[in-house]
Amino acid sequence: MNPWPGRLVLLGHPLGHTLSPTVQNAALRAAGIPLLCEPLDIPRSALDDTMAALRRAGAAGGVTTPYREAIGAYCDRLTEAARAVGAVDTFWTAPDGALVGDNTDADGFARALQPLLPALLDHARVALLGAGGGAAAVLRALERWGNVHVRVYNRTRSRAELLVGRFSRVSELAERIEQCVAHAALVVNATSVGQRDDSLPVDAELIPSDAIVFDLAYRPGGTALVRAAKARGLRAVDGLTMLVEQGALAFERWFGMAPDREAVWASVQASR
Ligand code: NDP
Repeated sequence: MNPWPGRLVLLGHPLGHTLSPTVQNAALRAAGIPLLCEPLDIPRSALDDTMAALRRAGAAGGVTTPYREAIGAYCDRLTEAARAVGAVDTFWTAPDGALVGDNTDADGFARALQPLLPALLDHARVALLGAGGGAAAVLRALERWGNVHVRVYNRTRSRAELLVGRFSRVSELAERIEQCVAHAALVVNATSVGQRDDSLPVDAELIPSDAIVFDLAYRPGGTALVRAAKARGLRAVDGLTMLVEQGALAFERWFGMAPDREAVWASVQASR
């Protein structure tokens, strides 16, 4: 029996910026697995047909913006992590033919945050910008850390309200972005602003001068938010480590082994 998925894909729209296939293809090459991760840039109107075809092919894959919250509905089973986050970023076909949806973004964020934790105080105030699948994963990771109070701001208020309702133990709604970032020890950008161009999700001058900035987005040369924060002398990281760690967890789910991180980082650096 072929032990590998029939196809390995990355679903999203638009996919132009993502380094996810680069991460997976480097890991596949290093492990000698004869598969390629195919980018599937599909409009929402093609999601039903695409998921049906992937199911027939016994596929596995990753899910990126804007489909993390939509793919769960196509899955037969969700892991505890996918249910808790309310978003699927990793799926596979189980031996019984069931499509299983999982979430590895939360653990990917937690791993990427780890080196920054010593700099954060007890009950650190966190500003979270955004209310999509990425923001939910951040809240799930922060909820497990427990040592935080999160203010969530989103352009569409109703979406932030729903998210805060699901994570009410650690979070509250911020009516304005100024109120969200005021006194924050950690500012997390989980909006898609800054992923494709040099726009800023928040005026960098509003960020407290001792805050750490974590931008889930990443871009060659750094995102505008990370550059603006560093220009003010703040510690700031982009989403690349999170991407690599999330991708490593997905690879483990699909192939039962850890990827060669050195090979993955070499490939990511070469394509930046
Ligand atoms: P979603 O499509 O689910 O959510 C997008 C979010 O961005 C929403 O909160 C949306 O607000 C907000 N947004 C979009 N455009 C604007 C705008 N012009 N002004 C203000 N807010 C805006 O995306 P995801 O949650 O899946 O991803 C969000 C970002 O995080 C993406 O850049 C993604 O690449 C990144 N990400 C990175 C990961 C990594 O491993 N590094 C992992 C997960 C995500 P509204 O509700 O008002 O539309």
